[in-house]
Amino acid sequence: MKRILITGAAGFLGSHLCDRFINEGFHVIGMDNLITGDLKNIEHLFELKNFEFYHHDVSKFVHVPGDLDCILHFASPASPIDYLKIPIQTLKVGSLGTHNLLGLAKEKGARILIASTSEVYGDPLVHPQNEDYYGNVNAIGPRGVYDEAKRFQESITMAYHTYHGVETRIARIFNTYGPRMRLNDGRVVPAFIGQALRGEDLTVFGEGLQTRSFCYVDDLIEGIYRLLFSDYINPVNIGNPDEITIKDFAEEIIKLTGTEQKVIYKDLPVNDPLQRQPDITRAKKVLGWEPKVDRSEGMKYTLDYFKGLSPKELRKSEHRDFS
Ligand code: UDP
Repeated sequence: MKRILITGAAGFLGSHLCDRFINEGFHVIGMDNLITGDLKNIEHLFELKNFEFYHHDVSKFVHVPGDLDCILHFASPASPIDYLKIPIQTLKVGSLGTHNLLGLAKEKGARILIASTSEVYGDPLVHPQNEDYYGNVNAIGPRGVYDEAKRFQESITMAYHTYHGVETRIARIFNTYGPRMRLNDGRVVPAFIGQALRGEDLTVFGEGLQTRSFCYVDDLIEGIYRLLFSDYINPVNIGNPDEITIKDFAEEIIKLTGTEQKVIYKDLPVNDPLQRQPDITRAKKVLGWEPKVDRSEGMKYTLDYFKGLSPKELRKSEHRDFS
């Protein structure tokens, strides 16, 4: 049985990856420090013989006994609000954490795929963004801790490939949504759905003319799976090119939920990218991959998930103690 280590296993994407690799017959070792992850996302796996869980921070030395065939590095805070609250941990997991996992991959002869991000393009001056674009990032802005950690992550991953011959893969993930997103992590999909379900007005930042392109989680997981088993070394964008303004997106959520609430406008966060749309030509070519689930369908599944939360969970505002 093949053995895979998945970091960030209790998080949104990590938990879906655990499910996928369990279903593919792997022995899955999940790792998470639970700063932003939630064990509820993987509780259903604990009874399985081919799943084990390590409560560990990958910024510290990582040891896994036995053989390892693959590593997926998905540990990181991933919402702009989280980076503001825990900037140092965000930098460490992308840099020191990646270094530790590359060292582990080298030691075990394992293939490693790292979760990079569309944030490496920053506030892009090229539209849509293809993988050859170098990006426009403010290193010292509030998002810099995430963006630069991820850029460093790509560099060190390539260096381990070039100098140590480690089998590496780099996925540049664009905005992804679906069940198991944290209701109050501040990202726009759970924010709007949570507001609609609680009967609050939807908070659009700025004039809402900034765009995003949302990819449903099942499509994303399929893209990651294909990339891991491809022989392609350079970064690959994984995302859905269907672009929408945030203002129009708020209207879609109002319609979908049937809420009586309206849109209210708040200040635009510093360095909030104006436009974002993946160019997925490369993913189509090298992975034969493109998204299948359109936004109206994916948002329905996501709404069903959030409707299934208890009233207490739904009311709970985010007062996580990150210390
Ligand atoms: N946004 C918004 N209202 C919210 C939360 C987010 O208008 O309550 C906007 C945010 O300013 C950004 C977009 O939605 O332009 C996506 O934000 P998110 O935090 O989901 O991720 P980002 O793509 O910026 O990393």
